[in-house]
Amino acid sequence: MVKRYQMFIGGQWRDGVEGKTFKSYNPATGEVNGIIAEADEKDVDLAVKAARRAFEWGTWAEMTPSDRGRLLYRAAQKMWEKADFLAKIESMDNGLPINETKWIALPATIDVLEFYAGLANKVQGETLASPGIRLNYTLREPLGVIGAIVPWNFPLMLTMWKLAPALAAGNTIVIKPAEQTPISVLELAKIFQEVGIPDGVINVVPGFGSTAGQALASHPDIDKIAFTGSTSTGRIIMQSASKHLKPLSLELGGKSPNIVFADANLEDAVNGSMFGIYFAQGQVCAAGSRLFIQESIYDKFMDLFVRRAQSIRIGNPLETTTQMGPQISEEQLQRIEKYVATGLEEGARLLTGGKRFTDAGSGYFYTPTIFENVTNEMTIAREEIFGPVVSVIRFKDEEDALAKANDSIYGLAAGVWTNDLKRAHRMVRQLKAGTVYVNTYSMLDSACPFGGTKQSGFGRELGIQAMDMYTQIKHVWLDL
Ligand code: NAD
Repeated sequence: MVKRYQMFIGGQWRDGVEGKTFKSYNPATGEVNGIIAEADEKDVDLAVKAARRAFEWGTWAEMTPSDRGRLLYRAAQKMWEKADFLAKIESMDNGLPINETKWIALPATIDVLEFYAGLANKVQGETLASPGIRLNYTLREPLGVIGAIVPWNFPLMLTMWKLAPALAAGNTIVIKPAEQTPISVLELAKIFQEVGIPDGVINVVPGFGSTAGQALASHPDIDKIAFTGSTSTGRIIMQSASKHLKPLSLELGGKSPNIVFADANLEDAVNGSMFGIYFAQGQVCAAGSRLFIQESIYDKFMDLFVRRAQSIRIGNPLETTTQMGPQISEEQLQRIEKYVATGLEEGARLLTGGKRFTDAGSGYFYTPTIFENVTNEMTIAREEIFGPVVSVIRFKDEEDALAKANDSIYGLAAGVWTNDLKRAHRMVRQLKAGTVYVNTYSMLDSACPFGGTKQSGFGRELGIQAMDMYTQIKHVWLDL
């Protein structure tokens, strides 16, 4: 029997005010994973009110930062205990191979919670240098109620990037998971409830972007919106939030350049570039989807790269031998197909892939795809495809690589492969990106800030830096 999931508001599991539901599907099989209570404007309003009450008074408001931290640690511990279960439901919802969920995404998610649990009692204000007749100091206070809107590619992890620092700083939160992948976020709320999170501190309102998402982004009593998703939705959210001048952090899309110089370790560069584009079926905001190869090693690199792409094992995400699962939906598959057709029309050469993969059942599988003879002007080099499609571009020298790499509306990440130390640092300085990977790609660590420049967004998640996004400074002027 298909499991039903209710929404979580004010510590209660309940149906929506209108009683509506929607289905969450397994992208590998098309089967229904769950029937989910659908939130709309009224439910979002109830959730914001519950979060406001919890923020202003009650156990949460009175809890010491150390106790808050301990509670977050307890939730992290519970997540470790339920790791197999969480990995399985996440992979069934978003199609990520179980090995990648279990050994990469889930441990990284719990690590984020532990990192911020440890920071809860380290939020500090300052005493300022002032004359003896007065005292000036700052308090670093939580913002209040945070509205978090998250996408489907890493539902738990991208929720945690917001939830953990927000709660560590003393805020409360209303989370709107993506309509494709609400289940793991609801299970996460259950874990927090089991370890004793006070009612209303975490609220989850599953639903659609244009209804629940829109209601959250434009709600007058939200103190900040933390959004991860596409650049086009980011623009809409910015407009909605402007109605009440709400602060925003936006983690948006990318078209990240991954640049391989002739002096790089070839084997490492091939492996890293494979991971850079094909990890999570290419559905990674920081994916190295524009691959720049220096002319003198072009043939050698491509020979290895194409063979490796063709050897990727596509299949059911729950099989431990699977290296690549399905795309998230039929809609996303069609989007990829459209980009592939446009690439061919505009003159790029398809080296491998470029079609659906039908041997793994009825899911939304697509083959690892490589285009060469791509120029930076082509659509497949300019727009985010969000699938396993890489656009390969040749370059002559450092100057040529930089000019092409920076010629993008996006600025989320960039990769550089070289054994020349000075060149690596020169590139790091000149690449316009929030993160630059040198001789590696797509790495994450809870302690390292992550975010974009240009139209990839603003604000930094992760690291100590994220605490700044969930606190505000109050200055006190006291005449003695
Ligand atoms: P999306 O923008 O379609 O949806 C993201 C979330 O926004 C979902 O919860 C959705 O329901 C909600 N939403 C949609 N329309 C809305 C509206 N009008 N008002 C309020 N909320 C609305 O993105 P997606 O397809 O779920 O995710 C893929 C995108 O996310 C890609 O562009 C990817 O690059 C980006 N992403 C960025 C990062 C990052 O850290 N920079 C990380 C992961 C994904």
